[in-house]
Amino acid sequence: MAERGDLTGKVAMVTGAGAGIGRAVSLRLAERGAVPAALDIREEAAAGTAAAVAAIGGKALAVQCDVTNYASVTAAVNRVVSELGAPDILVNNAGIDIVRMFVDTDEALWRKLVDVNYIGFLAVTHATAPHMIAKKSGLIINIGSDAGRIGNPGDAVYCGTKAAVMATSKALAREFARYNIRVNCVAPGPIGDTEMGDVLYGEGLGDKIARMIPLKRLGTAEDVADVVGFFASEDAAYLTGQVLSVDGGLTMIS
Ligand code: NDP
Repeated sequence: MAERGDLTGKVAMVTGAGAGIGRAVSLRLAERGAVPAALDIREEAAAGTAAAVAAIGGKALAVQCDVTNYASVTAAVNRVVSELGAPDILVNNAGIDIVRMFVDTDEALWRKLVDVNYIGFLAVTHATAPHMIAKKSGLIINIGSDAGRIGNPGDAVYCGTKAAVMATSKALAREFARYNIRVNCVAPGPIGDTEMGDVLYGEGLGDKIARMIPLKRLGTAEDVADVVGFFASEDAAYLTGQVLSVDGGLTMIS
């Protein structure tokens, strides 16, 4: 009998998979038997994740993909479909953050954040969904952020992009349910052990934030990967349109 959470043979496309949360998610899904397609803007980073998957005995495909470029996205999706098959699981994880007080931002910064975090998510979902619709099954798991639920100073535009991802996810959950496609979001709180975390919580800020978190530590990429693994499993079969914070109790949004 297959173990609970077993994902043997499932094709799992993960964006921004070359580092941090995306790499941890790729490894977690591979541990459960899935074949990750690791998409990243940096080819060598994607290849590093594929090598890490191979090192634990799994199989993965590394694909260079800039989520802000629709031609790059369709080429990546077509490659995944032809080499691995239609994705069963899509994890929209690629994202950037640029912290600056709103009055000090400019249009170029707004457009950059919206382009990667929101348009990129739309592009990958738009290019992938028809393949899931055709086989009447799929799981889409989007990495939002607690910042998009509660707001953070110095992060106004980032918060807006993440709120947009989470709102669109709910609309898509309603649209796609008829095709047996579930759409859910994971909303991490502060995650310290990633490249983004290094920038955001360096110089002692992480320790200060950890003191405000009920569980008294920053989150890890693995903490997020665990919850993505849950959403990808049959244990979450009756969940769609949900946003789950992974934040050690920092926000406790009801
Ligand atoms: P990292 O910066 O560590 O990793 C993000 C990966 O995405 C990098 O490999 C990055 O490449 C890649 N990427 C960036 N732009 C693109 C693009 N246009 N196309 C494809 N890939 C791209 O970030 P995290 O792992 O910390 O974050 C992952 C997700 O989690 C993001 O969506 C983030 O907003 C979200 N999140 C993170 C939190 C945190 O505290 N760390 C908290 C809440 C949410 P490169 O390095 O070249 O930029």
